[in-house]
Amino acid sequence: MNLAQRDHHVIWHPYTQMKTAPLPIPIVRGEGALLYAEDGKSYVDAVASWWVNLHGHAHPYIAQKVAEQLQTLEHVIFAGFTHPAAVTFAERLLQILPQGQRRIFYSDNGSTAVEVALKMAIQYWQNVGTPKKKIIAFRDSYHGDTFGAMSVSARSAFTAPFWSYLFEVEFVDVPIPGREEETVKQLETLARAEDVAAFIYEPLVLGTAGMVMYSPDVLDRLLAICQEHHILTIADEVMTGFGRTGLTFASDYLEHKPDMVTLSKGLTGGTMALGVTSCSTAIYDSFLHKDKSKTFFHGHSYTANPVACSAGLASMDLLLQPETQQNIMRISRSHAAFASGIASWPNLKQVRQQGTILAVEFEVGATSYFSNLRDTLYNYGLEQGVILRPLGNIIYIIPPYCITEEQLDQVYQTIRGMQQLILGSGS
Ligand code: PMP
Repeated sequence: MNLAQRDHHVIWHPYTQMKTAPLPIPIVRGEGALLYAEDGKSYVDAVASWWVNLHGHAHPYIAQKVAEQLQTLEHVIFAGFTHPAAVTFAERLLQILPQGQRRIFYSDNGSTAVEVALKMAIQYWQNVGTPKKKIIAFRDSYHGDTFGAMSVSARSAFTAPFWSYLFEVEFVDVPIPGREEETVKQLETLARAEDVAAFIYEPLVLGTAGMVMYSPDVLDRLLAICQEHHILTIADEVMTGFGRTGLTFASDYLEHKPDMVTLSKGLTGGTMALGVTSCSTAIYDSFLHKDKSKTFFHGHSYTANPVACSAGLASMDLLLQPETQQNIMRISRSHAAFASGIASWPNLKQVRQQGTILAVEFEVGATSYFSNLRDTLYNYGLEQGVILRPLGNIIYIIPPYCITEEQLDQVYQTIRGMQQLILGSGS
């Protein structure tokens, strides 16, 4: 049996219908933006392996720092103990996070970072003696797959089996261009009720919704309303963090800063699983009390894992290098040029870009994630040696920053081929 067949006997893959999915592609090595399969074929990782990879695969500098950490201290319980990597990483994160973030709480992934933020927000209001219950979120948002994170995410086909188990959330429409006033009105109405604990949002780009984008101006207006009505704001920067939108955080485009930020994915450059929830002094202080019931009773076995924190420190070193910042600008410019070049495609619904994220939305009949078009386009990409995971009729690029111009051209060329395929299919 080859690796894919052995896999098929023992493994259950994420977001995969195991009955009909083709065998997975065994990847044996990675370098830069390329992944190498067992059969020698290489793939440009245009989705940064589920949006996590910033500096390329098996980066030697991160590998070296991780190896050093592994030989010094691999893990230690994080209640009652600490270690240099966790402290240094927290210090350095607070230096680059949006203004007002003062404390770092570690967890394991994006979903747990969101759970922590929601629990902190709810308990904050209890701790200060004015319990509030409601959470507001964008109707099409995605914040993770655990129950709290699912609750504040879109009521989509992904979560349908669990709808009756999810807590109630007030949804407002995403303020896409031309629809800003509706959202502002919806939020204003909700905010007037006394009972709103927090507003959680993906700043500027809603990833899983299909890289749906909206302007910093309208988000600033929404955050102003929240602040006026004492509603805590949670910026979910799990996808947008660490340069994805052009600036280090999407929140850096805004005048109003959040009370809490959630991070994962690029946090370790895509090397290790790690989550962070940062918060303001006011939130942190509300948990300080002689009364033990005000404690934040939350923690995971691998909280602040030293190897993950070391990977995070190494990734941050690389991110802040001028070369990486230039690459981010280079990718943004290339995307912009490609976007203007395809503006006249007859079957283009919209092309949108925010920094290194580019989304091409096609005009087709059925637009569901489950439509066959998605599989056709996905398979075509693989044939061309490019990993693109269409969200229905939306193709997006979110590459590692080290991707070369030639590799980017290969990705654009593949998208051109997809456009022809769609035209040819008469969709
Ligand atoms: N929030 C956002 C904005 C995300 O895009 C994701 C993952 N795609 C998550 C949270 C959940 O992160 P994880 O998959 O690490 O649980």
